[in-house]
Amino acid sequence: MSVSLLFSFFIYENVNRDFRRFERMEEISDEREGSGLPPFHTRRTRPMINPVLVAQARSHLLTSLGIVNLVIIGGSALAGYFLAGRTLQPIQEMVAGLNRFVSDASHELRTPLTSLRSEIEVGLRNKKLTLTEARTLITSNLEDVVRLQALSNDLLTLTQYEKITNVKTFEKLSLEEIIHRAVKITQGLAKNKHIAIHVNIGGVMLQGSRQQLEELFTILLDNAIKYSHPKGVVTLTGTTDHHKVNVFVSDRGIGIDKKVIPFIFDRFYRADTSRSKQTDGFGLGLSIAKKIVDIHKGSIEIESTLRQGSTVTVKLPLPK
Ligand code: ADP
Repeated sequence: MSVSLLFSFFIYENVNRDFRRFERMEEISDEREGSGLPPFHTRRTRPMINPVLVAQARSHLLTSLGIVNLVIIGGSALAGYFLAGRTLQPIQEMVAGLNRFVSDASHELRTPLTSLRSEIEVGLRNKKLTLTEARTLITSNLEDVVRLQALSNDLLTLTQYEKITNVKTFEKLSLEEIIHRAVKITQGLAKNKHIAIHVNIGGVMLQGSRQQLEELFTILLDNAIKYSHPKGVVTLTGTTDHHKVNVFVSDRGIGIDKKVIPFIFDRFYRADTSRSKQTDGFGLGLSIAKKIVDIHKGSIEIESTLRQGSTVTVKLPLPK
């Protein structure tokens, strides 16, 4: 806008200087004629300057420059508005995401804290509290503390992974060993529900962080068991193709409604099937899983049919 105004000012000043020169020449010629001096120009060479036309030309010039400047100022203002909006959009989305995260986290923290507080208050008010009642109270308190601890661990893990964008110290790993470890961690839960875990992984090798990949497959296996019916079957299959290692974690459990699959990797998202809400969890597992897969430059997706089961497919790069 400043450049346009400056440019217009120079154009106007230059053209106007010529107009003034013509007018001055005309005035001098008139004065000489009036005082009987020989004319400045001969009548033949004297330019025919019409003051009305000069005034009109000057006003036309001013109007044109004014319009051009208005168009430029309007255009720049509009472009500035849209560009600023586009530049700010990711920041606004990030702030909105952060606010949502803080409010969801506070909500999840409040539930066990409220239950803890009210139980302790009721217990303290009861002057005749027996030892058995006190034990029941402490056991219930412990459950809330365990839940709070699990939530804080998940939050910490997620924020730690958010910070990592690229890991240079990936090692060559055996998928079988990683899956074996994940099965070991989740076997207690599987035993309680009498769920059989079938593993079909050959000598597949992959590259990555052992601790992160163990966490990834523990989350997927834990979900497959959690959302399976008792006495169900969970299958883990590993294959390789030219570019990728593919791992499939399948169950024949409650499944997920197709409509909510796009939100399943969002933080704190829990599919609203009644069974899913009855199961322990905060909706952070799959967000952590997605973050780990992103760090490993892989992909993760879920195919599911409600009441029939789900298959999570993880694709990771082959070792170099
Ligand atoms: P959490 O299991 O702690 O609720 P996740 O982020 O691991 O959180 O999963 C988000 C939601 O996705 C779960 O609440 C559940 O509704 C759904 N989900 C994940 N895995 C499965 C699965 N294998 N079968 C059915 N639903 C699943």
